[in-house]
Amino acid sequence: MPSEVDVVVIGGGSAGVAAAKRLRQARLRCLLVEARPRLGGRAWTVHDASGHALDVGCGWLHSADRNPWVGVAQAEGLSIDKTPPPWMNRQLERNFPGGEFADYRKAFTEFYQRLDEAAQRPGDAPASSLLDPASRWNPLLNATSTYISGAELDRVSLKDLDRYHSTDVNWRVVEGYGTLISKHGAALPQMLDCPVGAIDHRGRRLRIETRKGAIAADQAIVTVPSAVLAAERIGFTPALPQKIEAARGLPLGVDDKLFIALDGAEEFETSVRVFGHTDRVATAGYHLRPFGWPIIECYFGGACAAELEKGGESAFFDFAVSELCGVFGSAFARRLKPLCVHGWQSDPFALGAYSYASPGNADCRATLAEPVDDRLFFAGEACSRHDFSTAHGGYLTGAAAAEQIIARRNISR
Ligand SMILES: Cc1cc2nc3c(=O)[nH]c(=O)nc-3n(C[C@H](O)[C@H](O)[C@H](O)COP(=O)(O)OP(=O)(O)OC[C@H]3O[C@@H](n4cnc5c(N)ncnc54)[C@H](O)[C@@H]3O)c2cc1C
Repeated sequence: MPSEVDVVVIGGGSAGVAAAKRLRQARLRCLLVEARPRLGGRAWTVHDASGHALDVGCGWLHSADRNPWVGVAQAEGLSIDKTPPPWMNRQLERNFPGGEFADYRKAFTEFYQRLDEAAQRPGDAPASSLLDPASRWNPLLNATSTYISGAELDRVSLKDLDRYHSTDVNWRVVEGYGTLISKHGAALPQMLDCPVGAIDHRGRRLRIETRKGAIAADQAIVTVPSAVLAAERIGFTPALPQKIEAARGLPLGVDDKLFIALDGAEEFETSVRVFGHTDRVATAGYHLRPFGWPIIECYFGGACAAELEKGGESAFFDFAVSELCGVFGSAFARRLKPLCVHGWQSDPFALGAYSYASPGNADCRATLAEPVDDRLFFAGEACSRHDFSTAHGGYLTGAAAAEQIIARRNISR
């Protein structure tokens, strides 16, 4: 373990890998320090017995036409799948006949129009204030919010939600988003299984305390999730109360995926979606046959996901089976077998899925991203103003923090 480096990058997820890559290109001595025994963070691909790459964390290359991970995937020799995502008009009509789905899409579009207008006005409010009290679609709009933000609309800042930019181009990496990020970071100097517990920034050099010893560095980029900062899992000396407060304004929502093997999957078209229910908040979205595989990718969000995490895989599976049988009939249960699930809120190095701003806290993203004394830099999806909650948002903030360090070192040379 090197005890002296130029820059320590804390956290080997999307932001940390992008930052360390850029620093290495600039020939800086940098070390990536990661708490887990693997790189990727909230990007994590596992494989089932047939070798299918299952992304239990991020799966979609959102805003793919400007997502830097697309170029990296191509350079790494991975395959990009451009099948439109199931939420773009690939809805099964079984429990959602065409006319009703169109009616829901209209309510969804109108909600986002009201959001756009409200965000121009001063002040902030919970996004739920923009629901039309007379609409029958409010439960499903709220369920959708749990997939988008990891939280129900009453917990989400309307200003922040409106700042999210999407180009609506969504692709996937066949070998997995997690595979992509860990592969990209594989050759970097790194310490795995090595949680950072404290950062002392009193002296001329930073002193970073890890499970495997202390490291001295000129600068550090901290990329751990906002919830990890908010929980003060890393102690700063002197303390950084403004950072902790900003991190607390950006909680991580809860989103979890359960993968199920489906017998007789050919009955369905490739890559279609069905909701368990269209009239309640606590419902999952089911993506049937992603990549044409005999699999169902089940997506749980918000309070529903948080509750199911308490019961582990069997709680998720029972919930999914009951909803799917409600849609396809009770005989469907015999065709289903659980493959894997990961509870991100219970994960000690994530403490949630992705960040949203609570009402009044949209500007916390800028506060969190501000460097301290030109030595401590912060990156990660929660620091992104327009691409938060995504892996490419993580990449862009990591690369930006690295650029700032490179620029400052060149000036002081
Ligand atoms: C279920 C789910 C679905 C998602 N779907 C998508 C999607 O389709 N598309 C998309 O773009 N995004 C999606 N996301 C979000 C995306 O995964 C994250 O926004 C992105 O991976 C965050 O990258 P990051 O580098 O900011 O943070 P992380 O990936 O969390 O990296 C931070 C790293 O810091 C490490 N760490 C924590 N504490 C310490 C410590 N004390 N010392 C050292 N290291 C520490 C962590 O282990 C982690 O590796 C999804 C997330 C989940 C959970």
